[in-house]
Amino acid sequence: MNCYDCHATDGAAVTAVAVCHGCSSGLCPAHLRVTRPELHRPNGVGAAHGHARVRRVWCVTCYAAQASGMPVASAV
Ligand SMILES: [Zn+2]
Ligand SMILES: [Zn+2]
Repeated sequence: MNCYDCHATDGAAVTAVAVCHGCSSGLCPAHLRVTRPELHRPNGVGAAHGHARVRRVWCVTCYAAQASGMPVASAV
């Protein structure tokens, strides 16, 4: 998979190293953003250890959307 943002802006084919949590775009290191949200309660996936932090990778667009408090449409 290649980076979607590189393709969209430059038409460049850059190998993706991650996938956006919101829109499932492929992302190169230059275009990905990482957040470490706290999980406050278990949701049935994995074990709960109080304030465990998870890792979420976003594209620039979805990162800006979730950072501003807008709900991000999750992939179906
Ligand atoms: Zn890129
Ligand atoms: Zn995205």
